[in-house]
Amino acid sequence: MIEKAKDLYAQLIHAQELVDNSTRRKVLIDSMRELEASGVNCQSCTGCCCTFISNSMQTDGVQTLELYIYLHDKEMWNDSLISRLNEVIKNNRLDYEISTGQGSSFRRTYTCPFYNSGPKGCSISPESKPFGCLAFNALGKGVSAGENCTSNIEVLKQREDIFENNEQRANVYLKSILSLDWDKLPMPVALLRLHESIGKIL
Ligand code: SF4
Ligand code: SF4
Repeated sequence: MIEKAKDLYAQLIHAQELVDNSTRRKVLIDSMRELEASGVNCQSCTGCCCTFISNSMQTDGVQTLELYIYLHDKEMWNDSLISRLNEVIKNNRLDYEISTGQGSSFRRTYTCPFYNSGPKGCSISPESKPFGCLAFNALGKGVSAGENCTSNIEVLKQREDIFENNEQRANVYLKSILSLDWDKLPMPVALLRLHESIGKIL
């Protein structure tokens, strides 16, 4: 299964000219590192931006595929993770969409399956995690419960201005190859749907 996923990713990179995962996240990672260098970090925080308190992160097909490959490369994709993803979906009713009209749906919060409480925090490397996760940071030192944190819209936009067209093309291709009927989903749902769809291709 992972070979099929990697073949597909290679097609996105070579035939669809998708820029690689690290380069597309560089501006966000640099901005996060600058904050860290100035002493602003998450070390004294409970990590509430990754829990049901405020996390509602969704990923598109390309970001999901990159995360899926990362999880396999790190030997994190196994039956135990699949059970955990299903549990998070069930406990937070992530597979139950509530339409808010105009083609969008209500975003439910959930505790991210990749969050380790305590100092370890996120178990995904910056080069493979969702853009939204990288852009959300503390604004000052010593934050303990997310009281002084925000999403850096400016850097997100800067990144999007460079790569939006490139990513749109890759997402359209991925949707057609895998017959995906979704654009963005909460991470646990997106990963399982992608896994299922990859299993169906020859
Ligand atoms: S991927 Fe990492 S940073 Fe993003 S919500 Fe999950 S644990 Fe938090
Ligand atoms: S970004 Fe804010 S809420 Fe999230 S872990 Fe860091 S300090 Fe806590």
